[in-house]
Amino acid sequence: MRADLHSHSHFSDGTLSPEQLVLRASQMQLDLFAITDHDCIDAIAPAHAAIEQHKLGMRLISGVELSTKWHGFEIHILGLNFDTNNAALRQALLEQQDKRQQRAAKIARKLAHLAIDNLLEKATALSTTSISRVHFAKVLVAQNKCKDMQAAFTKYLGKNKSAYVTPDWFSIEDAVQVVKDAGGVACLAHPFHYDMKTKWLRRLFEDFANAGGQASELTHPRVSPTKLQVIQEIATEHQFYASIGSDFHAPNRWTELGRKLAVPNNFSPVWEAF
Ligand code: AMP
Ligand code: MN
Ligand code: MN
Ligand code: MN
Repeated sequence: MRADLHSHSHFSDGTLSPEQLVLRASQMQLDLFAITDHDCIDAIAPAHAAIEQHKLGMRLISGVELSTKWHGFEIHILGLNFDTNNAALRQALLEQQDKRQQRAAKIARKLAHLAIDNLLEKATALSTTSISRVHFAKVLVAQNKCKDMQAAFTKYLGKNKSAYVTPDWFSIEDAVQVVKDAGGVACLAHPFHYDMKTKWLRRLFEDFANAGGQASELTHPRVSPTKLQVIQEIATEHQFYASIGSDFHAPNRWTELGRKLAVPNNFSPVWEAF
């Protein structure tokens, strides 16, 4: 089974359309695929339509990547294989979108104080549904304020930097509940990317499990085996299912759909929980 259950379209901070994504997933010979936009499910219906139109033999499941706050950290939770018509889930996404709009306005105000004007308009023009710090970063790079996206995060947009706005995302508990009530599986996204000591990672897994979380991403081609080992040990204690995802945002030399992804030994794949 070739799977990739974490990717982004232009409805959030990715660059490809849903159609381009499913065609690419098909070229990469994926059997199982999910588009998991940030707090947004707008890509899913057009992706299904494209699969039908191009007669692709791949199974697309519903997906979303929810932003949550937990002890001052921003934790991302993937919802997989839920009912996209669930009213409570749709309402929760609207609220998250509202928070994104409010945060974007505040980011623009902070940048204006730093003499970088009119960024809200420009970032909004680059975004579709889900406005992200990535859209601000792209404008900052285009205006030669930063040499690349990474620099935009390091100087302005990253945690506690000069244009950082503490977000008001919902809690892990609320996010997991929404996904489960919509019939889906809640999966911890990229635990290896949080800047956290092992003690905090243990607490995160524990709180996530207590909230009803059942799965986690446990592997990524660009994360050290030592780090992955620690995370896999913690996940074993909670008997989590393993999900696999590239977190693909755009074609580049570092990421590709489905590349170097395999369920680690001794874990059940998350699709057994669907
Ligand atoms: P947001 O959802 O608006 O908070 O933006 C978070 C997104 O920014 C993540 O999903 C990544 O795609 C991207 N991102 C986070 N940190 C960095 C970074 N240091 N450099 C480039 N992109 C980043
Ligand atoms: Mn992203
Ligand atoms: Mn993420
Ligand atoms: Mn992601």
